[in-house]
Amino acid sequence: MQEISSDISRPSLSGLDRASLAARLSAIGVPDKQLRMRVNQIWSWLYTHGTRDFDAMTNVSKDVRAALREHYTLDRLEIADAQFSDDGTRKWLFKMNDGQLVETVYIPEAGRGTLCVSSQVGCTLTCRFCHTGTQKLVRNLEVAEIVGQVVSARDELQDWPGDTNQSNTGNRRITNVVMMGMGEPLYNAENVAHALNVMSDGDGLGLSKRRITLSTSGVVPEIPKIGADTGVMLAISLHAVKDELRNELVPLNKKYPIEELLDACRQWPSLSNAKRITFEYVMLKDVNDSNADARALVKLLAGIPAKINLIPFNPWPGAPYECSSWERIEAFADIVNRAGYASPVRRPRGRDIMAACGQLKSASVKPTAAAKKMAELASRNLTR
Ligand code: SAH
Ligand code: SF4
Repeated sequence: MQEISSDISRPSLSGLDRASLAARLSAIGVPDKQLRMRVNQIWSWLYTHGTRDFDAMTNVSKDVRAALREHYTLDRLEIADAQFSDDGTRKWLFKMNDGQLVETVYIPEAGRGTLCVSSQVGCTLTCRFCHTGTQKLVRNLEVAEIVGQVVSARDELQDWPGDTNQSNTGNRRITNVVMMGMGEPLYNAENVAHALNVMSDGDGLGLSKRRITLSTSGVVPEIPKIGADTGVMLAISLHAVKDELRNELVPLNKKYPIEELLDACRQWPSLSNAKRITFEYVMLKDVNDSNADARALVKLLAGIPAKINLIPFNPWPGAPYECSSWERIEAFADIVNRAGYASPVRRPRGRDIMAACGQLKSASVKPTAAAKKMAELASRNLTR
């Protein structure tokens, strides 16, 4: 009995940042003067090799390995469900230690592969076109739970050095990370910043900062700090050119209106043509998709090194909008292109498994409701 309970209480080292890893090592008696070396050694096993067994850490002394095994694990996030789309997109539902669920999506493309990572369970914001925004249950993810999504995806995709990897992306399947899963990353800015720095650490996961993109609906006061702290790329969920409409689509706009948001963008560190900001614009039929909107968009962004990413609206059950027609999207894209902006239309991926932008909504609320019902039925049966 005792063994089982001590097993459950052994925390995992997988997903931790350097400071937390050092604290864990200190706690099991690794002397201060060895800490840096041990952190570096274990870091490399965790994030360069994806090691799942302390015994494989051959450059760590046997005593330390034994202490590590006694107190910690290298367990990954639990995979509650995995789905494959016909187009190759994969979606995982991860279960956290407290039973909360989040989704992560992998999108393979020619020459690259993008992992779409979540920052929160649900989202406190309520953008009207977004399925995640309808999820009631919300909490911030820990650093290890954010990094853990990348580690688990590498496991599942056999994307560690030495794994058999048939990918056409050179040596890695995951080449890019976008913080575009569930949640508003800048409402969990501190953990997200630490997690992004673990992902871009050259001695570990080693993702290029230019290939990591943080998307925000516009939490203006947090923008400069995360820029300075991480050096990653920025994407802004703009979706409307006038405050009146943006207030409706992205209610956070009432707090931080468009002009303030664009001012924050202008301050983004090392903003240049080589490091442009992406403006995301969801195409909603008869709402924000006219030629006049396209022209106003171009005018609004004048002077900001920008890319415009047009996202066909991805429907979900009960959504109050429809996607613009392809002709409309093309006409809109044409105007934006002619003004000199690259404006790729984001091809919807994984719609058949509800993995496309804005479709993520982990069923965290549902089991609780179902469990309540079960309990109710059970108690009725018992009292009968
Ligand atoms: N909370 C952050 C990141 C997650 S959403 C943000 O809002 O930026 C990632 C992107 O998907 C955002 O640009 C968001 O506006 C967009 N999106 C949300 N719902 C969508 C839907 N139903 N169809 C298409 N894009 C959607
Ligand atoms: Fe939250 Fe982003 Fe969805 Fe808005 S679009 S509700 S900020 S996840």
